[in-house]
Amino acid sequence: MINDLMDKIVALCKRRGFVYPGSEIYGGLAGTWDYGPAGALMKKNLKDLWWKEMVQLRDDVVGLDGAIMMNPRAWEASGHVEAFVDPLVECKICHQRFRADKLEEIEEHTKNHGGMMVDWTEPEQFNLLVKAYLGVIEGKQSEIYLRGEITNGVHVNFKNVMDSTRVKIPFGIAQIGKAFRNEITPGNFTFRSREFEQMEVQFYIKPVDEEGKKWFEYWKQNRMDWYLSLGMKKENLRFRDHEDKERAHYAKAATDIEYNAPWGWQEFMGIHHRGDWDLSRHEKFSGQNLKVRDIETNEEYFPWDIETSAGVDRSFLFLLIDSYRAEGGRVWLQLDPRLAPYKVAVFPLLGNKPELIDKAKKIFNDLKKDYMIAWDDRGNIGKRYASQDEIGTPYCITVDFDTLEDESVTVRDRDSAKQERVKIAELKQYIMERLR
Ligand code: ATP
Repeated sequence: MINDLMDKIVALCKRRGFVYPGSEIYGGLAGTWDYGPAGALMKKNLKDLWWKEMVQLRDDVVGLDGAIMMNPRAWEASGHVEAFVDPLVECKICHQRFRADKLEEIEEHTKNHGGMMVDWTEPEQFNLLVKAYLGVIEGKQSEIYLRGEITNGVHVNFKNVMDSTRVKIPFGIAQIGKAFRNEITPGNFTFRSREFEQMEVQFYIKPVDEEGKKWFEYWKQNRMDWYLSLGMKKENLRFRDHEDKERAHYAKAATDIEYNAPWGWQEFMGIHHRGDWDLSRHEKFSGQNLKVRDIETNEEYFPWDIETSAGVDRSFLFLLIDSYRAEGGRVWLQLDPRLAPYKVAVFPLLGNKPELIDKAKKIFNDLKKDYMIAWDDRGNIGKRYASQDEIGTPYCITVDFDTLEDESVTVRDRDSAKQERVKIAELKQYIMERLR
């Protein structure tokens, strides 16, 4: 049943252009995925909504778009070169590698070898940073890392942002971008990939315990409320506080927001109280003063950082799973219209009647100035509805022979499948009221 749902989601993603296996015609590349036309639109909508909420609607957060390639010293400073490691074990029978801390996967794997006793290698520390080589002269290239998370690019620009804008503590820096990890066992579709995207805010505050507690709680609730506002089911979301032994030594507090995925509760974002770890380390390694001067006391201090770090791909996947509906022979994605790849689809009732096509094209061309609109003139109306339902298009508009007489069209609602006649002159207003 569990795998059944995931199988359906994966098949739908491929069939309807949400997500394809990376480099598929060459047999793929493990842990990479390509977003198709519908997926690229939905992912962009998700990132745009996040950016609007975090940067446009807030007066205390500014945006940044940092480089993927950074001076390797930055990764030494952040501790990634030394400590961005997972324990790796290898099955001595088939040489497949696993994370030693993923006990369920190890248990599952032993079943593959029937009754045989599985022997494992001793756990080795395996660094997840992906290496790259920069420079044009063979042998003189410098080794760098593709960023393992996007946080570092923000901290190294902390001073630039303070010096070039009018921000004052407390304030945040928001960023969306790709990250790369040499994951030992990529899997569960896009959930654990080797190339993925993150959306994060580093929120800098005064280094005072009450401030830390206040902002940590604030961001926890703020992020949970945001996912609920996107229509995710409350019963499928929960907080999970990290236990002391799980937390990085510098972290004062850490909580994940988890989703009740078909394979169990899984993290898709974290809220971390990172203290002054990042700024103090970057100051030490770069030799640049990254402290802030308090205007009242004239004393310098390192601000603390409350980080919210979400995976774009995991949020995307869980939003898809959460919106999947199958009832009475119908399958549809009950996506928030703001996330839906296409807001409206326009059809001429018949694909071979020029008068219907002309009329429908006029509506299509007019609406596409404001919204992403789909067009379909193949097959019958039933099939077209079914295909729009599967990609979550909230409204379908059909131009029929009556339209030529009464200047009205049939508008069909994705969730209720109800249809109503709407005057063409009132169509824009009708759609605007329904798409927030
Ligand atoms: P995990 O324990 O699952 O490996 P993590 O705790 O290492 O994740 P963070 O370093 O806190 O993850 O990264 C923040 C977010 O980035 C995660 O909540 C997740 O949504 C996303 N993320 C991390 N690793 C991956 C990955 N391999 N594939 C897709 N998304 C990822």
